[in-house]
Amino acid sequence: MLEVILLVVGLIYAIRRPKLKRLTVSDYPGVDEAKFVEWHRQQLRAVNIFLWATWGAFLVKVTILVVLSGSHFSQATALTWTILILVAWLVGLLVAAGAGSKAKRLRKAAGISWPAPDVSRSSSQLSEAAVAHPRPDSSEVEFYQYDMRTIEALKTCAVCSDKGCPCPETPIPEGSGYLYISQEAVVRMKAIKGGTARGALGVGLMPLLVCGQGARLRGIDLKVAADDARQWWESGKVPLRATPMA
Ligand SMILES: [Zn+2]
Repeated sequence: MLEVILLVVGLIYAIRRPKLKRLTVSDYPGVDEAKFVEWHRQQLRAVNIFLWATWGAFLVKVTILVVLSGSHFSQATALTWTILILVAWLVGLLVAAGAGSKAKRLRKAAGISWPAPDVSRSSSQLSEAAVAHPRPDSSEVEFYQYDMRTIEALKTCAVCSDKGCPCPETPIPEGSGYLYISQEAVVRMKAIKGGTARGALGVGLMPLLVCGQGARLRGIDLKVAADDARQWWESGKVPLRATPMA
């Protein structure tokens, strides 16, 4: 039974081995290269020894048993072989366990997570992407969530809602316009979100969907405001930060 379990574990290692072999230090950002190399070498060694001690030993044993059954050895010879095989198998397992625990120590010392490198790899790619393309309105910023029914209703009849804009209530088609988020609106949205808002939603306090003329008059960053508007149309999310000035 133990042997079957070990063979299954060996199979798992055999499947993992090619992936393990391909790992490089770049898969583990922040990990010391020398420590990684040391661990990588030892881990491969441990996997190899384990495979030899399980599948290798199993194949050798089967071969010997086949040869023995085909010949006419005495019972004593057969017993000697059986004991030899068992001892060799156990020694192999002990060596494999030793190599494995050494690899584990090195892995811990290097701060490497294995066999789950995919998690650290994807998260590192994520953080690299965030560094390469800083998007202030992405993950770190909190959002205020509008009711999508409100947005649905506005899709056919939205107009520039900026009272300070001289335009004749310019219609704003779905997906377009500029979202003007004042500092007061941020305070208001945070209060509503936190359940501490008192009274009706103050007109002029919530973010405004404005036309191009109104956005330019306010001097806001047109790109950010247009992106915020698009996001609001799509998901009803408004970042909890004021629209930057141009
Ligand atoms: Zn306007």
